[in-house]
Amino acid sequence: MTAQIIDGKTIARSMQQRLADRISQLLPEYGRPPGLAVLMVGNDPASSAYVANKEKSCDRIGMTSFGKHFPVTASQSEVLAVIEELNQNPGVDGILVQLPLPPHLDSVELITAIDPRKDADGLHPVNLGKLVRGEPGLRSCTPAGVMALLQTLPIDLTGKRAVVMGRSILVGKPLALMLLAANATVTIVHSRTPAPEEITREADILVAAVGKPHLIKAGMVKPGAVVIDVGINRSGDKLVGDVDFADVLPVAGYITPVPGGVGPMTVTLLLQNTLWSYCQRYGTNL
Ligand code: NAD
Repeated sequence: MTAQIIDGKTIARSMQQRLADRISQLLPEYGRPPGLAVLMVGNDPASSAYVANKEKSCDRIGMTSFGKHFPVTASQSEVLAVIEELNQNPGVDGILVQLPLPPHLDSVELITAIDPRKDADGLHPVNLGKLVRGEPGLRSCTPAGVMALLQTLPIDLTGKRAVVMGRSILVGKPLALMLLAANATVTIVHSRTPAPEEITREADILVAAVGKPHLIKAGMVKPGAVVIDVGINRSGDKLVGDVDFADVLPVAGYITPVPGGVGPMTVTLLLQNTLWSYCQRYGTNL
């Protein structure tokens, strides 16, 4: 058996086309495009590439970018003041602070300062609370992107064994809650879990969000399982996932590549969140 490859790039492109179509319907009605503000501090090359990609994607679907790039020396109060301005700006529907930040800045305080209705990354405690309670709200982009990929498969998640590797607030924890909301039976495996392979081998859905290149080998995967690789690791000038793709391909039923799997979905869900906030403002549907 060879796994079917889940083509995140194509799925993301068609979702973005749907968003672009919806924006062109809404524009004449409300007289302005949705707006997304990406705040970046410093010159981290990976972050710069992500921010450029987000801004390009905004342009492509007809969303306005209100990006702000601070020097690495920017103070907490300078960034807070800009967040406050953007919270008040009626042309801005989504705000996100690109992580990681330089160590002198407090990311939790900055994220908490964002108006929860404009929290495009879904990381504000109000939105995380809504996720825990199962209420509608802004969902964090990478786990929501994983769920959107899973929804393209001919598989009902109800009652399936889902194993999430990693428990970060950015990916692992919110993803476990989203899988739970989809009625999967969910286990989280983390750095202190003994014999993780005994648990991963039971997974119908296995998601790796660890940050260790090629950690997941064929022997850790149940034959026919869906394997979603969130990891992005640099190996020389190449990007590799947490899953040893070539090793796992003959065992899994479905698998995402890196790059071209979860990555393009993260940006797409960011755009979708921003459009959702815009629609909420006008009481219309996405
Ligand atoms: P993190 O470092 O915050 O968390 C890693 C988690 O992995 C921790 O909870 C830790 O307990 C767990 N872990 C460590 N060793 C483990 C092991 N041997 N087995 C199981 N779990 C283990 O990282 P993060 O922010 O959650 O990101 C994880 C990976 O996903 C990184 O490679 C990151 O670059 C990538 N990422 C990708 C996207 C995307 O858009 N594709 C978005 C966010 C993060």
